[in-house]
Amino acid sequence: MAAAERAGSGARVGLVLVSHSAGLAENAAELARAMAPDVRVVPAGGVSGHADVLGTDADRVAGAIEGAWSTAGVLVLMDLGSAVLSAEFALDLIPAAHRAKVTLSAAPLVEGAVAAAVAAQTGGALEQVESEAVSGLLGKQAQLGGPPPAPAGPEPGGEGEWQEELFPVDLPLGLHARPAARVVQALAGVEAEVRASNATTGSGPVSARSLNSLATLQVVRGQRLRLEARGREAKEALSRVARLAGRAFDDPVTAEPLPEAVEPQPSGAEGVFAGLPASPGTAVGPVVRLGHSALVVPETAPGSPLQEAALLERALAATRSELGQLREQTARRAGAYEAGILDADLLFLEDPELADRTRAAVARGGVGAARAWQEAAARARAQWEGIADPRLRLRAADLEGVVRRVLAHLLGTPESTPTGSGILVAEDLNPADTAQLDPKVIWGIATAAGGPTSHSAILARSLGIPAVVGLGAPVLSLEAGAQVLLDGDRGSLVLDPSADAVEDAARERERRRRAAAAAARAASRPARTRDGVLVEVAANIGSVADARAAVAAGADGVGLLRTEFLFQELAQLPGEEEQFLAYQEIAEALAGRPLTIRTLDVGADKPLPSVPREAEANPALGVRGLRLGLAQPELLTPQLAAITRVAASHPVRVMFPMVATRDEVMVARGLLAAAPAPDHLEGVPPLQVGIMVEVPAAALGASVLAPLVDFMSIGTNDLSQYTMAADRGNAELRGLADPLHPAVLRLIALTAAAAGPGSWVGVCGELAGDPAAAELLIGLGVRELSAAPRRVAAVKEAVRAATLPRARRLAEQALELPDAGAVRELLASPRRR
Ligand code: PEP
Ligand code: MG
Repeated sequence: MAAAERAGSGARVGLVLVSHSAGLAENAAELARAMAPDVRVVPAGGVSGHADVLGTDADRVAGAIEGAWSTAGVLVLMDLGSAVLSAEFALDLIPAAHRAKVTLSAAPLVEGAVAAAVAAQTGGALEQVESEAVSGLLGKQAQLGGPPPAPAGPEPGGEGEWQEELFPVDLPLGLHARPAARVVQALAGVEAEVRASNATTGSGPVSARSLNSLATLQVVRGQRLRLEARGREAKEALSRVARLAGRAFDDPVTAEPLPEAVEPQPSGAEGVFAGLPASPGTAVGPVVRLGHSALVVPETAPGSPLQEAALLERALAATRSELGQLREQTARRAGAYEAGILDADLLFLEDPELADRTRAAVARGGVGAARAWQEAAARARAQWEGIADPRLRLRAADLEGVVRRVLAHLLGTPESTPTGSGILVAEDLNPADTAQLDPKVIWGIATAAGGPTSHSAILARSLGIPAVVGLGAPVLSLEAGAQVLLDGDRGSLVLDPSADAVEDAARERERRRRAAAAAARAASRPARTRDGVLVEVAANIGSVADARAAVAAGADGVGLLRTEFLFQELAQLPGEEEQFLAYQEIAEALAGRPLTIRTLDVGADKPLPSVPREAEANPALGVRGLRLGLAQPELLTPQLAAITRVAASHPVRVMFPMVATRDEVMVARGLLAAAPAPDHLEGVPPLQVGIMVEVPAAALGASVLAPLVDFMSIGTNDLSQYTMAADRGNAELRGLADPLHPAVLRLIALTAAAAGPGSWVGVCGELAGDPAAAELLIGLGVRELSAAPRRVAAVKEAVRAATLPRARRLAEQALELPDAGAVRELLASPRRR
């Protein structure tokens, strides 16, 4: 996953704000952070030790630069006079390796900070962030006498020929809000006009920068999204979305087991309400209500267009800040995916269909900000509600929550909070409202409307709050304080439950609590088969945040760090020192667990902006992975030096991708041996050297390669694509490049059989994350499985359920089967036990 194209991860440019006034720097930083919750914004105002003196201080600025440091660089904005001198002097006080990545900008302090923060948040490179900062005054200039905002239509930068690309959408929920939000984010900062249409149904084109408009295309699973771009960076726009599409639009929705599509049960006895199960568990308690205050837009004459515009911007900024904080809190409480749900809310705020339409109406005069916002929202809501796909239609409720929040700020009405503890009964809940709920206060959620696949339901599940949705309007007549029993497994709500029912529910809750505690405890313990074979279950990661998630998920280490993801958005490949710092931060996050660093795997489906490549006729068969590293040792050498340095103080493994021949391994080992060897700390294991087995030639020649390395990790994603000659990114061939095909399984068996006494074989392709395949892989001889962090616990459970003799029998049977379908059936068959 491209680091900066995902929310909440990847290196973002940091900001330092230098002012003569500590207060001004502090407040400008607060403004900037409100726009960009994930960007480090560090104020450097005033003089150290002299709180009441106006002035600037080079030491303080240097400290702030280090505090804001990111491998993407740091942008420094200053107010006047000596602020510039102090900032220049500060450059001499920071490490030389950082200096090259610090830009002092002539942009205005406040407007520049805000514009830079927004650009940094979307992952803009240092130059882009600086250029946004320098243009920071344009908005204000336009507002104060410049031309009115341009009506929706051609975007700036849109000239020349249209270039077009088609993207098959193979997501269970289609191009729903989250992947659509990723498309909008991926295009952030790209200088091109980009429009989107549904190539299958012909709907569109609409602006690809608008979440609302993208949703109206209703691209469901199996359909194709057409993107057309023109302008200076048209190609870049398309390739960003291509990368995103190659990562299945970063949509891990398959990991989220959706409740079965069940029809609401008919209500039975009086006081029994039937709905849809949305989050498992039971809860008993009094009804509590949200008590939304009525948001009435007054008929009074609005202020001047300028006053109303300022009011609107303040309300949007306040809502942005609120949602940003909520996002951070959700990341801590529920996880990164769930926090990402709130990105869609944040994007509603930026959506040209909403914000720009409101701005334009306000600028025309005669209508206040609140009324204009309400009208734009009604239009957007109608678009969502007109969508045929019921799952996408649910996003209307998400939009509603954002609209209310902004309106509450515009009208100065405080947002509603639940009144007391118990079971929350509401018409519907939007994601931000749900994310705010505390399971200690709200024990269950019952809504009249809504669906089990809504974002609110996903959040309720990850917060562990039982929920039932779609209970119908009659549930709203329940009085606050009435005792109810909510059953999130069956999808019911019972008024005045019997003592027996309450007791049963309490017993069930206790059973679940114990089971969940046991699973969490077990996740961090090593996984052994029932007959004692140790299998390392590690994680695949692409960032420091992923490393933390891996540890929290109980991973035994990292089996694959995709270093190209770490540097995805950088205009220049970082040098040895920056790479060292990046790997070291990850190794430290792993607290002693082994870290497998894969050298750059660039080329084919993984282009890297900082490593431009000539077009190749067959890039998947071209100069990629280790081939590129060997062709351009200036790429590989600093990386190996950085890895060697980290390995001196942390347990590290280095792994070369796309190996085909013995010579490649020998040359790569030669480059590694030439890297300076720093003093190794006592007790730290020596650097292990391994290769990925992704090319059939490597699997077939594993016995030749194995003696050269400490380990071999099978990349089943590429191994199946090359074995089956089926492009892994081609949705039409999805069924063909199947890692469970016996042809691929035979290559895995050959590789595992080649491991010598001191070496081992792992799998780090997607297959390793499938618990159903764990026993088969163990039977084939695999002893390490590396998967996405969220898969770790389930894979460990699958290892613990296996025995070696049974696993071997299973492998023998699978190898004799005719195709992947038959292997799948075998794995699912209860008789194989
Ligand atoms: C693989 O090919 O299975 C693998 C893990 O590498 P990547 O998916 O990064 O190509
Ligand atoms: Mg691969």
